[in-house]
Amino acid sequence: MKAPPLRLLEDIDEPGLHLLEVYERRGGYSSLRKALTELDQDEVLQRISDSEIRGRGGAGFPMGMKAGFVPKGDMDKYLICNADESEPGAFKDRVLIQKNPHLLVEGCIIGARAIGANQAFIYIRGEYAHQADILERAVAEAYTAGYLGKDILEIGFDLELVVHRGAGAYICGEEMALLDSLEGKRGNPRLKPPFPANAGVYQGPTLLNNVETLCNVPLIVGLGAEEFRKLGTEQSIGTKVVSVSGNVQRPGNYEVPMGTTVREIIYDLAGGPPEGREIKCFFPGGSSAPVLTGDEGLDLRYDFETMAQAGSMLGSGSMIVVDDSQPLVPLALRLAEFYRHESCGKCVPCREGTNWTVKMLERIDSGEATPMDFELLVQVQTNILGNCLCVLGDSMAMPVGSMLAKFRHEFERHAAEARARNEGALVEQSAPELAAAPSIGPA
Ligand code: SF4
Repeated sequence: MKAPPLRLLEDIDEPGLHLLEVYERRGGYSSLRKALTELDQDEVLQRISDSEIRGRGGAGFPMGMKAGFVPKGDMDKYLICNADESEPGAFKDRVLIQKNPHLLVEGCIIGARAIGANQAFIYIRGEYAHQADILERAVAEAYTAGYLGKDILEIGFDLELVVHRGAGAYICGEEMALLDSLEGKRGNPRLKPPFPANAGVYQGPTLLNNVETLCNVPLIVGLGAEEFRKLGTEQSIGTKVVSVSGNVQRPGNYEVPMGTTVREIIYDLAGGPPEGREIKCFFPGGSSAPVLTGDEGLDLRYDFETMAQAGSMLGSGSMIVVDDSQPLVPLALRLAEFYRHESCGKCVPCREGTNWTVKMLERIDSGEATPMDFELLVQVQTNILGNCLCVLGDSMAMPVGSMLAKFRHEFERHAAEARARNEGALVEQSAPELAAAPSIGPA
C-alpha cells in the first residue's frame, strides 16, 4: 500500500507545532483569516455544509446539517467541542490536542463563527491533564494574538473560549450528560428533545462537535469544499484518523482516506497480528461496536456506510484487534464490567442489564453456568437494545451480543472446560481425603 495522503496528521511530528509561532509558520490561522475577512457568516456555514463532513465522534451526523439546526438571531449561542475521549480503544483526539492544539482552537473559532456563537467551550476529559495544559497554553496564545476575545481580526466578532476539565466519568462524553456536567451538575443524560441545537448549555442554542470534526474545519475553509470532498467515498467524505490497538505489531494512530480497506489498515499500516497468529475478530469502532470476524470484515471498506451495512459501526474510528490466542469470555466480561461501572444508573435496562450481564459472564468464566444462563444472557442484551435513555446500555449490549452470536461455541466450550476443571479439582482434592478418612463401616 502506498502511503496514504495526510491532512490532519501531516505536520504532527513538526517540532514545536503546539506553539503559535510554529503553527503560524506552517500556515496556521490562515483559514481563520479567510473565514472572517473574505467570507460572511452564512458563507462559512455553507462551506461546511458543502463539504458534507460527518461528525467524527461516533454518530456520523453531518456537521453542516447540525450547525444549520442552530437558529439564526442575536440570542446567546454556544459552541462546544467534545474532547471527553473515553471510549476504550480511542486515542486519536489525545494526539491531535497534544501535538496540534492550535488546529483545534482555529476550528472552534471558525465553527463558532458559522453559527454566530460568542462563547465556546472545550470539554476535555479529566485524565487528559497534560493535554489540557497544552490546550490552555494554546488558548492563551490565541487570545494574545487577537484570535480570541473582543473584535477578532477587527471584524466586530467576539468569542470567549474556555477549556473545561471533566472529572473522569465516561458518561460525560454523551452530549446531554456533558451539558449537565458543564453547567456544574452531576453528568446525567437528559431526555431528547429538546436537542442541543435548540436548548443546549444554559438552555441556549448549542453546536456540539468532536475534536477531529472541528480539526477538519480549517481544512475545509482553506481547501474549499470541492477539494475537501476529493478524498473519501461518496457518503463518507475526507480522511479518518484511526486508532488501532489490540493484537497488532504497530499500534497507533493512522490517517487514511475513508473507504480504505480494513485489511490495509490492520496489515499494511499496523503490521498485522503477531507472527503466526490469525485475526479472530475486531471492533471496528471502539469497544461499543459489534465485532466483525476476520473473515467477514477484513476486505470491507472502512467507512460509515460499509461498516453499518456489515452490522457494525465506524463509531469514533477506533479499531481493536483480537487474535486467535485471546479467549473471548474474559474480554466480554471486562467490557461488561466497564460499562456497569460507568452506567449512571438512571434507567433500569442499563443499570440492571449491565449488572446481570457481568454476573452471567462470571458464571460462564468460572464454570458455574447452566444452559439457561446462555439464553438469559442473550435475552438481557436484546432487552437493553433500544430501550435506554442514552447509548451506554447499547454500548455494552452490542459488542457482548455480537460476540455471543458469532462465537457462542467458544463461550460454551469455555464454560464446559471451566466446569471440567472444577470437577477434576474436586476429584483430586477428595481422593486423598477419602483415603485418609476413618472407616465407618464394618471392619
Ligand atoms: Fe444512564 Fe445507562 Fe440510562 Fe445512559 S443508558 S441514562 S448511562 S442508566
